[in-house]
Amino acid sequence: MEWEGLKRITLVVSSPRIKQQENYHHCISTTAPRLMKHDRPFRAANLFQKPAAPHFLTLYNPRHLRRSPPDNSSLLHANHLHKRIPKFHQRRIQPRQMKGILESSSHGLYCVPGDFHIDPHLPVNRAVVTHAHSDHARWGCKKYLATQSCERLLRLRMSPDAEFRFLPYGETLIVNDVRISFHPAGHILGSAQIRLEYGGHVVLITGDYKLGSDPTCASWEPIRCHSMISESTFGLPIYRWPSQEAVFDSINRWWRECRDEGKCCLLYGYAIGKSQRLLAGLDPSIGKIYCHGAVEKGNDAYRLSGVTLPETTYVGSIRQKHDWRGSLVVAVPSVHGTPWVKKFGRCSTAMASGWMAVRGTRRRRSVDRGFVLSDHVDWPSLLQAIEACTPETVWLTHGYTAPVARYLIENGRDAKVLDLLGRNEGDEDATDEDIEQTTGEIPTT
Ligand SMILES: [Zn+2]
Repeated sequence: MEWEGLKRITLVVSSPRIKQQENYHHCISTTAPRLMKHDRPFRAANLFQKPAAPHFLTLYNPRHLRRSPPDNSSLLHANHLHKRIPKFHQRRIQPRQMKGILESSSHGLYCVPGDFHIDPHLPVNRAVVTHAHSDHARWGCKKYLATQSCERLLRLRMSPDAEFRFLPYGETLIVNDVRISFHPAGHILGSAQIRLEYGGHVVLITGDYKLGSDPTCASWEPIRCHSMISESTFGLPIYRWPSQEAVFDSINRWWRECRDEGKCCLLYGYAIGKSQRLLAGLDPSIGKIYCHGAVEKGNDAYRLSGVTLPETTYVGSIRQKHDWRGSLVVAVPSVHGTPWVKKFGRCSTAMASGWMAVRGTRRRRSVDRGFVLSDHVDWPSLLQAIEACTPETVWLTHGYTAPVARYLIENGRDAKVLDLLGRNEGDEDATDEDIEQTTGEIPTT
């Protein structure tokens, strides 16, 4: 790995704090999620319309890379992202750009001929939602259309007054001449990519997705399209997920070691999706598994949807004094450091998240262990997915949109940054800080 000659890499953050660090030539994106948070409203589009030079900072510091650093080609590529970036993006989708199918509205993506919104961030009459995470399925809409396997999770979170319609994967519904179908996204139970076809033009909205295996949900499927709207939460070359098997080996090993030392394990993960994936990978022969209330609610929905999970016990059901040694408790991250965890006595704490790929994030969260487990695509999977879907234009939304768009353009694809207001909040992997905002109540994530 050669670090010589590496001057500046990536990023798209403009911040007084960053400017102060201009001499810090090999600093890295350990801080990126936090900076993005602080810089809200973070708008890559705005940034790129200004002379960018002093704002583009170096981002890679070998000391901060927990796993293998990005390969040379990625670095070489990233090395010139700091140059003045042409105005290649569009802030909003204009109807003509998608053959009149979609446009950006104040409430989110809007399908013009179909008269419905996709994952709206404000209440609307008709919402077509990709999955049940709160930044995609917002409370307060009149009608929801989602996948059949999303039903339990969606009903768990939404008002009973709302009207639901559920569609199995692959089935088509025609609304005002727009053909709508859902296809597995591999993100969480019931998560879907939405395919829209109108006038011969196909648009694919990926929602959150991952390509890696996950026993708790259907695997991602490539869908050929003309326009693809893809998330890019982890769209930097440093994000490369280890195999799921390796991650669960280390989790189970950690649990075994803690048990032998007479400790209780506290494993933090988002209540819906991440926790159930964690449970499915745990080895229940090591000890007893307990769950926080929000996680247990999610477990019920998963089990009722036919997903097999190991036996779990709701922590709140244990009234009397209890010996927690050797047990593992799956809980939401927001309980970390609160009186709720005191009852478990001597504990080892761990967090499972894609952000754990960067050591600084784990340190900041002050947990004993960090396991790299994400339900979003990493850098190689993102590129692989785009290849497989063969879009003429890729719209990037969420996370590191601009570096990905830049990379795609340099590699011969038409790519744009899509500025969707109201995103970057609510999902467990949206930003590191959003993890901290997760609460025990499912509706508020
Ligand atoms: Zn999600």
